[in-house]
Amino acid sequence: MSSSYDYRVTPLGWDKVDGLANQIRGLLKLSDIPCFPIVEVLEQVLPRLVGSEDGFSFQVCSEGEMGSAEGLTCPEGTFIRVREDVYDEACCGGGRARFTLSHELGHFLLHTGQNQPLARARPNEKLRAFESAEKQADRFAATLLMPFHLLDEDDVSSVMGRFGVSKSAATVKLEKMVKDGLL
Ligand SMILES: [Zn+2]
Repeated sequence: MSSSYDYRVTPLGWDKVDGLANQIRGLLKLSDIPCFPIVEVLEQVLPRLVGSEDGFSFQVCSEGEMGSAEGLTCPEGTFIRVREDVYDEACCGGGRARFTLSHELGHFLLHTGQNQPLARARPNEKLRAFESAEKQADRFAATLLMPFHLLDEDDVSSVMGRFGVSKSAATVKLEKMVKDGLL
């Protein structure tokens, strides 16, 4: 969602992507907390976990530097960059911005070392969802922000408030869960 390009990456089942999101919550002892503190995790926890000696940094960049990109994750895993206005919005609990940050964390955890230039999809090429870097990062973000085990209601505005997500993210997730018979 942060880039107009997509990349073909190693195919990954949604259960694997969900498993990683839940693992991160577990590792941070946040399994039972609905509203995942994505800003704090990117800004404080991740640099500590990865180690700044490995050259990782979380960077907030101006619109001039980022252009239309709201977020950008280094394919080699050395930085996650977020546009200033998106960062500010996420700090204020904005659901759309929180999703963007979570999506970038998904790229970092799932795709570091995988974004070979040759794997960039051509503009009209249709990647299958499970091999699309963008779809995988979106799935990761949706599960990280709204873990299945904490979702026990189908009220969109209540989910938005409890989990700190946008109306569209809550709607898509709930529709999917109803369709899969999980709600
Ligand atoms: Zn992306």
